[in-house]
Amino acid sequence: MAKQFLKTIKYFTIMKNAQQIVLASRPKGVPTIDNFTTATVQLPALTRQQVLLQGLYYSVDPYMRGRMNDAKSYVPPFALNQPIQGGVVARVLQSTSDRFVAGNFVLGNLPWQETMVAAEADINKIDETLAPPAYYLGILGMPGLTAYFGLLHIGKPQPGETVVVSGAAGAVGVVVGQIAKIKGCHVVGIAGTDNKVALLKNTFGFDEAINYKTETDMRQAIKKACPNGVDVYFDNVGGEISDAVIANINFHARIPLCGQISLYNSTGAPVGPRLQPMLLTRSVLMQGFIVSNFSNQFAEALKQLAKWVTEGKLQYTQTTLHGFNKLPEALIGLFSGNNTGKMIVEA
Ligand code: NDP
Repeated sequence: MAKQFLKTIKYFTIMKNAQQIVLASRPKGVPTIDNFTTATVQLPALTRQQVLLQGLYYSVDPYMRGRMNDAKSYVPPFALNQPIQGGVVARVLQSTSDRFVAGNFVLGNLPWQETMVAAEADINKIDETLAPPAYYLGILGMPGLTAYFGLLHIGKPQPGETVVVSGAAGAVGVVVGQIAKIKGCHVVGIAGTDNKVALLKNTFGFDEAINYKTETDMRQAIKKACPNGVDVYFDNVGGEISDAVIANINFHARIPLCGQISLYNSTGAPVGPRLQPMLLTRSVLMQGFIVSNFSNQFAEALKQLAKWVTEGKLQYTQTTLHGFNKLPEALIGLFSGNNTGKMIVEA
């Protein structure tokens, strides 16, 4: 009896305190482990329409680097000494909400905290019977939607056209290439290791792939991989890789400008070729976008992505680090290409 009582006390003590990972300082250049620290917080009691959540899978994403700066952007910066926030798949432990019961799997933009109290309005149920829960941070989540809208709504690939994607072996890139194959295109990926190049060709069905770290003449390599020129360039990385692709761009090409990861840790203003003459004389459309621009069409896109996944037309992979305290390492690892597919931390 006494033993059971002590166990119960321990349970409530554990549940009422939660570990979180907070931003300790703002990075200069590539983030380091020292930019993060852990803190313990007390969980408040549930009030109406709230849930107690246990974090299961945490997403790390390149855009978080921008939020570590104290700079104006499309999302506010992370505050110092406050938890980092991002996509989290969690399990409901307790609920005062009519919409959720204990055991439900949910997705939300939530703090890096092991257990947390969330308002019902900040989370959505996910169907864990349709796909593994972590897929909702990748192919059936923000990266999948980014690939879908950037490629189909801006890139508008036509059968027989050539589509090049940089950051090709990452969360967004592998989906872009496969959707372009579904649309009947010649697809070329650019990635940073020979293993990634092999995976793109052998598992994800890319026609060609180039290792930008070992290739000495990227312009020539792209020319060789794209004998008919480049009709759609899905730009995930920017910098010199993009300069080399754009040197091979076709008349009336489309460039969905999705990410510029090669510049996220720059400390000075990057200088490159002036692209406007090329865009002008070849009537090229280059359009930046943020996936949330398309939020009113997410439901329809997720239905299509899920259909392709269940039909086996879209393959997916992820790199999983195990342990809540691996979150900083996982985020930093994105900038040296430690991930293949979506980078996830399983708590
Ligand atoms: P990834 O899963 O692709 O991970 C990042 C990858 O970028 C790494 O694995 C690495 O692969 C590559 N990389 C890192 N540093 C460099 C560099 N200096 N030069 C070239 N490649 C580099 O991330 P995501 O798929 O989640 O995101 C891809 C891009 O899309 C990012 O730029 C991100 O910011 C952007 N994005 C934009 C969104 C929008 O709404 N516009 C939404 C989601 C993502 P490698 O080994 O090949 O170098």
